[in-house]
Amino acid sequence: MTKKRIIIETITFSLILIISYIAIFIVLFFSSRDQMRINLQADCQVAERIFDGSNPTVTGKEVTSAFKDNDYRISIITREKDGEYTIIYDNHNMYQSNEDADELDNIDDYTTRKSSYGYSMVYYVMRDEQNPSYYIRAAIRESNVSELSYDFLLYGSIALIIILFFYGLYKYKAYINGIKPLKEEVQRLAYISNIDDTGEEDLQALTESIDVISNKLVDDIKALTNEREKTKNILDSVSQAIIAISNSGNIALYNLSASKLFNYEEKEAINENYHILNIGDEFNKNLDLVLQGKIKTSTFDCVIRNIIYSCEIIHTDSSWLDSGKIGAVILFSNVDEERRINKIKNDFFSNASHELKTPLTSILGYLELIDKGILQNEDEKEAISESIKEAKKMKDLLKDMLIINNLDSNKQLKKEEVSLKETIDEIVSSLRPLLLSKEITITTNEDDFTILADKKDIERLLINLIENAIKYNKDKGKITITLNSSDKTFKIEDTGIGIASENINRIFERFYRVDNSKTDKNIEGTGLGLAICKHIAQLYDYQIEVQSKLAIGTTFTVHFK
Ligand code: ADP
Repeated sequence: MTKKRIIIETITFSLILIISYIAIFIVLFFSSRDQMRINLQADCQVAERIFDGSNPTVTGKEVTSAFKDNDYRISIITREKDGEYTIIYDNHNMYQSNEDADELDNIDDYTTRKSSYGYSMVYYVMRDEQNPSYYIRAAIRESNVSELSYDFLLYGSIALIIILFFYGLYKYKAYINGIKPLKEEVQRLAYISNIDDTGEEDLQALTESIDVISNKLVDDIKALTNEREKTKNILDSVSQAIIAISNSGNIALYNLSASKLFNYEEKEAINENYHILNIGDEFNKNLDLVLQGKIKTSTFDCVIRNIIYSCEIIHTDSSWLDSGKIGAVILFSNVDEERRINKIKNDFFSNASHELKTPLTSILGYLELIDKGILQNEDEKEAISESIKEAKKMKDLLKDMLIINNLDSNKQLKKEEVSLKETIDEIVSSLRPLLLSKEITITTNEDDFTILADKKDIERLLINLIENAIKYNKDKGKITITLNSSDKTFKIEDTGIGIASENINRIFERFYRVDNSKTDKNIEGTGLGLAICKHIAQLYDYQIEVQSKLAIGTTFTVHFK
């Protein structure tokens, strides 16, 4: 109900009440006037019956005493021929008669005029039946007639005003009470949507406020949805898996990388206990400590599906988490490659220092013997030549280590067209002394092709493979080199000692050397040759295949690009 309607209703009600009241007043006024006239006539008739004009001194007194305390004024009047009149009896003892008495000419009827005393009076006049020269007159003040009506008007109006006041008050209260819950709701919504409440207690104003609030809320909801989408997009575009866990252990946030890592969709994981992710005991233990507030952050490595992740648990006091304010945000970063490289580097340094230490110890040993003069002639010569051999080993080792270090340092590749045939021919001729010393024959089937690469890298790759084919070949053995331009392959087959199947997977590891001491004489090497080959292949995305049979021979195939 609007305020306007309340006002209209109240006015309508007031008008009906006032009109009804006026109607009652009019009816009351006229009916009391008529009643007064009837009474006036009746009293006049009674007085006429009492009065006897033939015996006026007695009956006149009887009349005045009969109407002594009556409101109606009863007078017995005589009239002269010139129109002058005299009041001979009057129950109110009022004998003034200096006015025209029109009523005396208006017998058996009502006359209204101002009396000698200044009142407006209603008169009724009869002639005495016994002696018509006597007039019996009954009179009453007109104000007496309407007194009752005026009282009714006065008190009725006061009552009417009170009724209307309370009616209006009641209507207003009912209206205010009716819109109170709505008003409270609007105030609440205005507070939520950060809008100034007008404070008006009008339905129209409230409806307008609701319109403003609902528009603001629609805008706010749109802005929030956009903000949520933005945050979700950002979280989903992050390569780290991010989850948030509430104090109760339920998952409250879960990004796209997390669903890829744990194989659970976001909708499957949200509000579930984090144990479904099955991350491991160390994780559970650290998360408990963070959730209990014993530590603020915890960072450790954990293995999930054979991949190493750095897991960072961060304590958070966020109200958006479902139960309570405390929770944890967890970041999983894939550090598998980093850790692997670190391990390789650590292994490399420990292996390198070990490999360098061995020849250095030998050299020092020989030098000490020479220095102390313990060795004589031939022994001394042999010690010197052994020292030279060990020093060469160290030199080769350092050379290979430097190569590996250069390859590791992500150098800028200087690519050029490299002819495979040309490169192989150069290498073979440089290794001629070695070939001759072992009387190895080399056959080349070269269907030449070129590749785009740093020539030094290709040389290193091919030298290592060809040198190994010579080193690990038997005396008078054979080597066959085949270049195939159609599938861009280089194949080198030897008839050497071969590699046992259990060792094949490890020959590309840094410093790994197959122990050939039982089958063959000690063959010199650094254990870095094939590691360098593998490194170069990775740099250019080439593939290297190995096939080998013990005591029969080995074939290495390089698939170029
Ligand atoms: P090394 O300096 O010892 O030759 P590599 O990295 O070149 O180091 O080779 C690793 C190991 O692989 C060698 O110690 C050897 O046992 C084995 N190997 C490599 N090439 C051959 C081959 N052609 N025939 C047999 N064994 C080989």
